[in-house]
Amino acid sequence: MQYSEIMVRYGELSTKGKNRMRFINKLKRNIQDVLSIYPSVKVTADRDRCHVFLNGQDYAPVAESLKQIFGIQAFSPSYKVEKDVSVLKDSVQKIMTSIYQEGMTFKITAKRSDHNFELDSRDLNLTLGDAVFDAIPHVKVQMKNPDINLKVEIRDEAAYLSYENIKGAGGLPVGTSGKGMLMLSGGIDSPVAGYLALKRGVDIEAVHFASPPYTSPGALKKAHDLTRKLTKFGGNIQFIEVPFTEIQEEIKDKAPEAYLMTLTRRFMMRITDAIREERGGLVIVNGESLGQVASQTLESMQAINAVTTTPVIRPVITMDKLEIIDLAQKIDTFDISIQPFEDCCTIFAPDRPKTNPKIKNAEQYEARMDVEGLVARAVSGIIVTEITPQAEQDEVSDLIEDLL
Ligand code: ATP
Ligand code: MG
Repeated sequence: MQYSEIMVRYGELSTKGKNRMRFINKLKRNIQDVLSIYPSVKVTADRDRCHVFLNGQDYAPVAESLKQIFGIQAFSPSYKVEKDVSVLKDSVQKIMTSIYQEGMTFKITAKRSDHNFELDSRDLNLTLGDAVFDAIPHVKVQMKNPDINLKVEIRDEAAYLSYENIKGAGGLPVGTSGKGMLMLSGGIDSPVAGYLALKRGVDIEAVHFASPPYTSPGALKKAHDLTRKLTKFGGNIQFIEVPFTEIQEEIKDKAPEAYLMTLTRRFMMRITDAIREERGGLVIVNGESLGQVASQTLESMQAINAVTTTPVIRPVITMDKLEIIDLAQKIDTFDISIQPFEDCCTIFAPDRPKTNPKIKNAEQYEARMDVEGLVARAVSGIIVTEITPQAEQDEVSDLIEDLL
């Protein structure tokens, strides 16, 4: 027998009262985006559940994809069979004999939403339970916490059988908390920060600063690839490339070396904020982590943050590097992050950035530049690309292409 559909149970959103339908529709869209790599799969949603119809698609990879999507509490693959008592008995026997192991207990949980069906749920439990005894004579029934709980649902169009309950990723459906701009470098930390923001339902757009020819196409591709890895948690992500060369050259030209890092970051923050404003974002998300490098002190954070009053979320701020790396490995971004392509910050970074920069000094150096004009030009030069999930086979062929 082959699974025909997967029933998806919603997570935390059930507590959200009248926003419920909005949450459900968002989750449905996200599931459709993520599963778009399987063309035959169709997704529908109602108040209680979402249904993923496999239409012949192999179950296992779809289940792997579903496990990653935020807002799903649990899901159950199920078999669709004809609404006929003898077919039901036969199917129940087939399923039970294929999963039963010596000593296991079971129960049948029948539910009838088609009230015209010849047996009610109590009769169904008894009849199908008897069918199991016929097939496996020594099997024991147990009402509380049985090893196998075989659920039978009689709906209008057909009957559905399921016995597995697979835990989902939890969290909130991406997009239900509003939009945030993720400052995405090619490093280890910012993709993890993005993942954590997605987990709480923030719809992120990835803002990446590139300084060609100082930064290579490889660095840009790396940022693209990292963004693609993040699409598996909630669907498509807008990738925003910002031309940053002019600003980096200007800073290098007009400011002392000790302040290059601070000024660079202040410009990045201003530009990200302007893009946020234009695109209806509510917050900025970045990968800053406290004390990791000389530049990530509280003084430095204060000097950089001073250019905006927009909330800046720093999901990995209190995490140790090893904790961040663990998560990066778990979400499969680590191997991309450690590819050796120079980031725009590494190239212009001084050996010793100031660990306690002063806002007043930063402002004084910026007075030598046309800050507004530089920001406006960078913002008007952005390139926006929609990044979508990718099938495994495509990933392999991409890899081969990279190697050639
Ligand atoms: P990451 O591992 O994310 O690069 P990091 O530990 O290297 O972080 P920094 O290089 O100090 O830390 O950068 C701090 C944060 O600034 C990054 O996490 C990211 O959010 C943002 N940032 C740095 N460089 C870029 C860039 N080229 N484009 C977009 N955001 C950037
Ligand atoms: Mg970095």
